[in-house]
Parts: sequence; structure tokens; C-alpha cells
Amino acid sequence: MKASDRISNFRESVTLKMNAEVVKLQSMGQKVINLTAGQLPFKPDFEFIKNIKQESNFLKSFQYSPVPGFPELREKVKKWMGDERRINFENSEVLISSGAKHVIANVLCGLINPGDEVIIIAPFWVSYPAMINLYGGVVKIVGSDFYNHYSPDVEDIKSAITDKTKAIIINSPNNPVGTVYKNEWMRDFGNLMISYPGISIISDEIYRELNYYDPGPTYFYQYDESLLERTVIISGISKVMASTGLRIGWALGPIDFIKKISTLQGQTTSGANSLIQRALLNYDFTQLEEYLAPIKNHLRKNANILRDKLRENNLSHKWYQVDGAFYYLLDLKNLPVMENFSHGEDQGDYATEICQKVLAEEGVALVPGSDFGAPNTARLSLVADNDVFSMAIDSLIKCLLKKKVN
Ligand code: PMP
Repeated sequence: MKASDRISNFRESVTLKMNAEVVKLQSMGQKVINLTAGQLPFKPDFEFIKNIKQESNFLKSFQYSPVPGFPELREKVKKWMGDERRINFENSEVLISSGAKHVIANVLCGLINPGDEVIIIAPFWVSYPAMINLYGGVVKIVGSDFYNHYSPDVEDIKSAITDKTKAIIINSPNNPVGTVYKNEWMRDFGNLMISYPGISIISDEIYRELNYYDPGPTYFYQYDESLLERTVIISGISKVMASTGLRIGWALGPIDFIKKISTLQGQTTSGANSLIQRALLNYDFTQLEEYLAPIKNHLRKNANILRDKLRENNLSHKWYQVDGAFYYLLDLKNLPVMENFSHGEDQGDYATEICQKVLAEEGVALVPGSDFGAPNTARLSLVADNDVFSMAIDSLIKCLLKKKVN
């Protein structure tokens, strides 16, 4: 059967591909430390699990939910998000979908006309460009790098804007770099957006509650609430409630736009999982702070292990401060391992080859940064047990520092 042109050039997600490789090696009896995970390896809050069990006693939990989600849950989510951000979202509405990925797809489908440009910041989450292309949009990439703590220069964003720019996506705390954009950055970015009233903003805040240092992240619309008229905020339970498999995510945005994309959802997938929505209805989101406290400690500890081991091996220049989410993007440039692949002035990207070498020789799995728009980098996940993580970093560094043997 011939697939449509629209999906024919879609590529398999690198993260899923690396995971499949790990599973294959493990099934062959090889020991692998998997640092590719995009999820917390912990059970959700006990109260939430209890609610799921409780709600499974009711017929309603197994029936269709209203298309945009249960109204009480949408209200509750709006209030919680507003309380946390000290904003009254009275002119906003919530759409609940089957995960943040699904709601982002709804938002992009609802925004993009063929030929519209959407600005994303590299390194980026792999699904943004794939979805923008799917809806006929044109991806415009603005870079950010290690030296500016992976915050793009606001002037560079300005330079990327054209009369075709329809939207811009920002993501803080960030996947794949684990940094949080600073308050000043958010203020400057907000000021820039005020001068371009035709541009919509998607603020992907799926990792918001997983920030390691107080005070947590701020966002541009907190400096000028008029920007909420064209902002959609993305959030959900996958990351901060350790519930990737339950598939609930949401968008909060202008009432009319949310109504439109809710109609789209009605014609494509219907309402999201009723049982989980009902369990969330009885869950006190403010409990998340207590639930996440030991998890954040755990992640901070792994970040510190990584920092210390980089220092011990004279690689401090590869370290930057991780502020949130659960990833670190390791720069592979100029490391001895590169000599196995790159010669002289060669500017090629060898992230995949290096990740394959690390996996084959040391049994440590990483995700090559290539598909995040970050050549010659590798993303490592900070979620593993501290002892296991420490061992993995020793093996990884050993491999990275090994020179080519002729
Ligand atoms: N945005 C970002 C930045 C992510 O990293 C992810 C998940 N990896 C998502 C959105 C999608 O999350 P969900 O599991 O809710 O679809």
C-alpha cells in the first residue's frame, strides 16, 4: 500500500529508535545502561493511583468524555495554572487531549496554513519540525548554544521574523538541554513579541514543575498579560506526574481558538481518556510539590555527579548548569573519540556514530543530538539510579577520551 506524500518523508523518532536498539541488545543478554529515557522511572503519587482505582468503579469512567475534556477538570486545570503563575486566566480556555504531543498537533493544525513559517529554537524537541511540516508549514530555526546557556539571542529571533511568520514555539524548562530561560530573557522576548501582533506564541511548559532551583521559571506573558490573547500554553501529566503512558495533556489559550481546535479534536480523536480525567478531578495538584521534592533531589544529584566527573577528567568546559527537566546535552566536539570519524577540517556530524560506539563498547545508550538540531552532541537522561548513573558516566567518559588507535 502506498503511503501519502505527506507522511512519506517522516522519519522514525531517534529516541524511540535508540530505545529499540537497547531492547534488542538486552534481549540478546547484553548489559546496557539506558540513558535515553524521556520519562521518570517512578510511580505516580499514591493519591493519584488511589483515585484511578476508585474511579474504575464507575461506568462513566469507561464512556466517552466530552470532546474538550470534563468541564470541571478544565476549570480546575485553569485555576491551578493561574494560581501557580499568579495570573487570572479569565479570557482563556483549556482543551484536554491525549497527551501534550497530541494537543500540540491540534494547535499547529489549527494555526498553520500552507507556507506559513514557524520559528523554533535549536536544540529543539524532535516532534516540532515533524508536525510543522505535516501541516504544510515551513520550519525556521533560530540557534542557541552552550555559551549563552542555550538561550537564543532575542535579536536572532527578530532577524528570523518575516511577513510569513505565523508562530513561534518556546520550551522552558527545555528538552533536550535541561535549562530554564532567565527572567530577563522572558521579558525581552515578551517585548519583542509585542512589536509583532500577528505572531502567535506556543509556550511548551510540560516540564515547568520539574525545575531544580527557586524561584521557578517565569514566562513572557507574566510581564505583559496582553500577550495571552495570542499565546497557547502547553502542559500535562506525562513528565511532572510520571504518567507518560496515561496520555493526558492540555492547552490553555484564547477561548475562540480553543473552541476551534476542540472541534478538530471532535472529528479526529474525540475526548481524551475518561478514567484518567476523572481521577485527576479528585487530585489536588498542589500536592505535586511534595511528590516532586525527592525526585528533584535525585535529578540534581545526578547532575552533580555528571559535573564532578567532567571536572575530574578535565572536561569542565563541557559543563553548564542544568536547571530543570531531566536531560543534559553533551557537546562531543573536539573530544578524542571524534578522531575515529572526523579528519582535519571535516565539519561532519558524527553524533550517531559516536553514540553507536559508546553503546557497543561500553553498553551505555545515549540519544544523538542530530535530530534535535544539535550536531555532534548527545542527550543523556538524568533519571537513572545515582549509582548506576555514576557508573555509566565513568564508562562514557572513558570511551569519549579514548584516542583512535592506528
Ligand atoms: N513537549 C516536550 C518538550 C516534550 O519533551 C514532550 C515529551 N517528550 C512532549 C511535549 C509531549 O509530552 P506527552 O507525553 O504529554 O505527549
